[in-house]
Amino acid sequence: MITFKETGLNQDILKALDELGFENPTPIQEKTIPHLLSEEQDLIGFAQTGTGKTAAFGLPVIQKIDTDSKKTQAIILSPTRELCVQIAKDLDNYSKYTKGLSVAAVYGGASIDQQVRSLNKGAQIVVGTPGRTLDLIKRKKLKLSTVRFLILDEADEMLTMGFKDDLDAILEGTPDDKQTLLFSATMPKEIAAIAKKYMKDAIEISAGKKNIGAENVNHVYYMVNARDRYLALKRIADINPKIYGIVFCRTRRETKEVAEKLMADGYNADALHGDLSQAQRDYVMNRFRVKNLQLLVATDVAARGLDVTDLSHIINYNLPDDLEVYIHRSGRTGRAGKKGVCLTIIHSRETGKIKMIQKKVGKPFEHAPVPSGKEICGKQLYNLIDKIEKIEVDNSQIDQFLPEIYKKLEWLSREDLIKHFVSAWR
Ligand code: AMP
Repeated sequence: MITFKETGLNQDILKALDELGFENPTPIQEKTIPHLLSEEQDLIGFAQTGTGKTAAFGLPVIQKIDTDSKKTQAIILSPTRELCVQIAKDLDNYSKYTKGLSVAAVYGGASIDQQVRSLNKGAQIVVGTPGRTLDLIKRKKLKLSTVRFLILDEADEMLTMGFKDDLDAILEGTPDDKQTLLFSATMPKEIAAIAKKYMKDAIEISAGKKNIGAENVNHVYYMVNARDRYLALKRIADINPKIYGIVFCRTRRETKEVAEKLMADGYNADALHGDLSQAQRDYVMNRFRVKNLQLLVATDVAARGLDVTDLSHIINYNLPDDLEVYIHRSGRTGRAGKKGVCLTIIHSRETGKIKMIQKKVGKPFEHAPVPSGKEICGKQLYNLIDKIEKIEVDNSQIDQFLPEIYKKLEWLSREDLIKHFVSAWR
């Protein structure tokens, strides 16, 4: 395995990757990045979402952009609006330290004027759906003459969605000496035909099937009304009495509110957010690390410095705006060969987002009902019984009281005794 540094990426990009927590290139990145940095040969990549293909083509393209010029140098075509936004966001993250680089996303169903404005400002990389991209080309708002890289992402999906004619029109308008990259999970005849018609002597690279999203993590979501979010969180905590996890919130304020409510309701929880002093942060983190705290309610930024390997759960009290952040959150559980669970509380308007994340993670999510009071009661009861079964008995302490206790309970059968005992707990 090679390192990112060995692929030939520059310091600005390496710094951004380091901040994102990318440690090593994925198989497709390992093969694609050095090639794209040093060769001008076209490339066909067999890769699904989840293999790291966005960075595989995005990182070398970012590095090869001439930031002294504001002209459009790369066009990335992708089938849906959500994917366009996601790719543009990923590229923004990767180019955080690359000065003078700008990325624009253009897609249908949104105001074209705003997109024209972002193109006018000068975006060297344009990520677009085929229809809107062609529209902007026809309006002469997007010029193809300076394009050096053309990337077809999820080419098979674009064809399935009926973009064949748009793709043909765009491909025909781009300069002959550009480098064309085509990524597709499958290779139907139509894709092979496009490759044959528009690509020269392309090298083929395969990513294998492996996805990055931790394989040991199960993803579950609960759909509730926005006002029932907290109730759902409590139920999640109740049904998992041994939970050891992070509850991610969107803002400091929400973090504080949720943690305060949990504490007031008797949960073993505390908050970690930017308003705490360093000493307070250290104190909370330490309690969590040594497991004196079961639930840490945190913002993404505040949780960054926390490295705990055996979390049982990650809870998304709210979904992050950036899907990338979901991947990072969920990657905090299921480490070191252990099983992990990533739970998300959503309201119905967020189902589209869950679908996108599911695709990115590359495995199905379970839609579970919020645990009922009865289920929780059962779970806690069994948990108590389990504890009682396994407890270490210290005879020296209790022997002296036992004769009296036996005598008092003599009249109860074994079954009745258990019933009394369980009811006392309630
Ligand atoms: P993609 O296949 O491009 O949609 O990427 C899937 C997910 O993997 C994204 O959330 C990326 O941020 C993440 N990712 C990509 N490359 C790496 C890497 N080398 N190490 C860790 N995560 C990565």
